[in-house]
Amino acid sequence: MTPAAYAVLNLEAAQHNLQRVREYAPASKIMAVIKANGYGHGLLRIADALKTVDGFAVARVDEGVRLRRAGIKGRIAVLEGFTCAEELDELLLYQLDAVVHSFQQVEIFESRVEQKQIAIWLKLDTGMNRLGFKTHEFEAVYHRLKHCPIIRWPINFMTHLASADDLQDPTTLKQIHLFNNTIATIESNSEFKLECSIANSAGIIAWKEALTDWVRPGVMLYGISPFPESTGKELGLKPLMSLHSRLIAIKDLEKGDKVGYSGSWICKKKTTLGVIAIGYGDGYPRYAKVGTPVLVNGQRVPLIGRVSMDMITVDLETQPQAKPGDPVTLWGEALSVEEIAQCADTIPYTLVCGITQRVQIVEKSEF
Ligand SMILES: *Cc1c(COP(=O)(O)O)cnc(C)c1O
Repeated sequence: MTPAAYAVLNLEAAQHNLQRVREYAPASKIMAVIKANGYGHGLLRIADALKTVDGFAVARVDEGVRLRRAGIKGRIAVLEGFTCAEELDELLLYQLDAVVHSFQQVEIFESRVEQKQIAIWLKLDTGMNRLGFKTHEFEAVYHRLKHCPIIRWPINFMTHLASADDLQDPTTLKQIHLFNNTIATIESNSEFKLECSIANSAGIIAWKEALTDWVRPGVMLYGISPFPESTGKELGLKPLMSLHSRLIAIKDLEKGDKVGYSGSWICKKKTTLGVIAIGYGDGYPRYAKVGTPVLVNGQRVPLIGRVSMDMITVDLETQPQAKPGDPVTLWGEALSVEEIAQCADTIPYTLVCGITQRVQIVEKSEF
């Protein structure tokens, strides 16, 4: 018996989406971003589905360690780097690349004399104002790192785009130019060929200027659009995840009857109500608005009332033959996660990342 709520993962779509990245950035190496448990799809499962990439990126040290322990051999970059000597020890032990973005990290490097070396990505803050050195600090940091025996040369450079999903925003080109100018000064005096990385998914799809030695696609690998106004499907991507459940009860309500917590939905007429076993306890968004589409037997019906922890309610007016046990899709191939995100005033990233433990993951090949 399958559990009520389950997510089906079409892992073959990962290869398809990777191929799309290659088409957008034919001259770049690809570092697949699989942080946050592979955007909710499973860290090791996604690493395996994408094993032909040139490298992986994760946010935290422990995510990188998990990949190494699972036998992943290639390059793994830790995007938040390390915050203490112990974390640096882990990076060294497991040979993970560190993103270097703070003076505290530089000081830790300077205190080390061991033989073992670490590969690094020196991060320039070009306007995101989150991690990275400012342009006026960058060259000095670069020269300090040159004196650290723990660092393996050549090092790499990176920056992160803040607004690449907005095609009208001039910020992106400004960031790219700032990055290129800062790097050019260093490169002209360097004996090494230094590799650079700028683009996330939005950068890969929309900003040719951001395509450098390495690209860092995340969300597009999962078949999801990084842009608020489009779906992955429109960009030629295939979604990996679909979220399913089933109807568990059907109820006839009269005009004036109230549905759910706080009675926030009041029936305007006689209503056939469907109760579905999915809620925010599974990762379905608590703030999905009334009218958010849900597929019952493959047909769209509107959400009514509040999303609760274990259940949602829908209006079955157009599905009079529906019965308990009938299949429900919350998002997937036929109902984009991008549309559901819009209905919940969020971005699709949060929906796939937010799938909880209770949701059984089924790989499509086993299905
Ligand atoms: C998460 C992340 C990415 C991937 O971003 P997407 O929008 O999912 O493609 C790339 N680079 C950095 C530094 C990130 O934190």
